[in-house]
Amino acid sequence: MKKHNFSAGPCILPQSVLQKSAEAVLNFNNSNLSLIEISHRSKDFVEVMDNARALALEHLGLQNKGYQALFLQGGASLQFLMVAFNLLEKKAAYLNTGTWANNAIKEAKFLGEVVEVASSQSDNFNFIPKNYNIPTDADYFHCTSNNTIFGTQMQSFPTTNIPLICDMSSDIFSRQLDFSKFSLIYAGAQKNMGPAGTTLVVIKEDILGKVSRAIPSMLDYKVHIDKESMFNTPAVFPVYVSMLTLQWLKDLGGISAIEKQNNQKAELLYNEIDRNPLFEGFVAQKEDRSKMNATFNLKNDQLKETFEAQLKNVGISGLNGHRSVGGYRASMYNALPLESVQVLVDIMQAVEKGA
Ligand SMILES: *Cc1c(COP(=O)(O)O)cnc(C)c1O
Repeated sequence: MKKHNFSAGPCILPQSVLQKSAEAVLNFNNSNLSLIEISHRSKDFVEVMDNARALALEHLGLQNKGYQALFLQGGASLQFLMVAFNLLEKKAAYLNTGTWANNAIKEAKFLGEVVEVASSQSDNFNFIPKNYNIPTDADYFHCTSNNTIFGTQMQSFPTTNIPLICDMSSDIFSRQLDFSKFSLIYAGAQKNMGPAGTTLVVIKEDILGKVSRAIPSMLDYKVHIDKESMFNTPAVFPVYVSMLTLQWLKDLGGISAIEKQNNQKAELLYNEIDRNPLFEGFVAQKEDRSKMNATFNLKNDQLKETFEAQLKNVGISGLNGHRSVGGYRASMYNALPLESVQVLVDIMQAVEKGA
């Protein structure tokens, strides 16, 4: 039976990408060798890496603007540390909008002073703080564009004179933004781009070289840039699948085309959450709702069994909320078809009629 995969991450990828990836594992570019058993320095793989890096910049509109794209390892979680290691001299400003932002703050504190400009922690992160002040003497400002666990998303970003750094793990390539506002963007592949195992880092080169500490090679962005993202053996398979996904997105018409679909999916589901008396959204203000991860509850616990049995019947998978929020979370990443959201909405209506 066809599954409707609402998993928060690792998550759904385009079927055609999975097909091509599977083929490349057996026979890459008709070489009669597997993608994962050849040298990462072979011409065929260097092409994959170059292509993936170029496509990432192209989608973000950042080619020839002083930016470099890297595919590193260690997950977005290592970026929490690497950002601070490379950029934090004295003091950095952070916006605390959820578990991941909190983790980023924790790592930065190893290396300097952290100013938390605002936090939504006291309300279990159910809103995005606004109207905060960013100290102009901080080395950078760090924020999280989409809070995967709580289902909130920043709709606008502050204008500041200091470098703007953003963890875009769970909404990169999902909507158009002026990406040139950002000095560094990072995203673990497994939310909207590929398998776990690689992390995209897009970095404006001129922000580097300003801290006084010595930086170990593997943590040094400059080293990875100089080695064209091949300082050590890259995660060949995750990079390849990410490249295919970026190519798929390009063939589809790029971010502006996928954004239209993402808006349709989010509208369909949120309209039902608001209309259907059995359900309620988790996020306090509608304007803060994430178009990637919709968090909601079933008001009446007694209907839980019926609802979940029906979800199972139609092949809906991965809808359970994160343990720190409870309820349900529908992750609607780029590769999730509108049809899957419709199937979910139909079940919400069926439970309402039967209730
Ligand atoms: C999942 C996630 C992370 C953690 O990513 P890892 O690759 O597992 O380290 C960080 N930030 C956000 C916004 C996430 O959604």
